[in-house]
Amino acid sequence: MNDELGALQEGLAAGIEALRAGGRVAVIAYHSLEDRAVKERLREEARGCVCPPRVPVCVCGRKPRLRILTRRPVMPKEEEVRENPRSRSARLRAAARLADAA
Ligand SMILES: [Zn+2]
Repeated sequence: MNDELGALQEGLAAGIEALRAGGRVAVIAYHSLEDRAVKERLREEARGCVCPPRVPVCVCGRKPRLRILTRRPVMPKEEEVRENPRSRSARLRAAARLADAA
């Protein structure tokens, strides 16, 4: 599980890196731990700054790289779960790459 999470995070990081402005990344997670990792990564990229709250001014200089397109994860409809029970735990999240800040 740890290795899978690590691979997921690496893959996601590489995917975000490869995007051009306007490009989109979409991830489907089948486990809540994976979904949480995806959610946190996308939020971090959408926030940009990673300074700890106690730092009064930003010193990291990081700018947002993503705009989150799914405020809540997209889940399969009941109908889809009936046809494909394995889809039950699927959670899709998507984000779009912002233009690089000058
Ligand atoms: Zn900062």
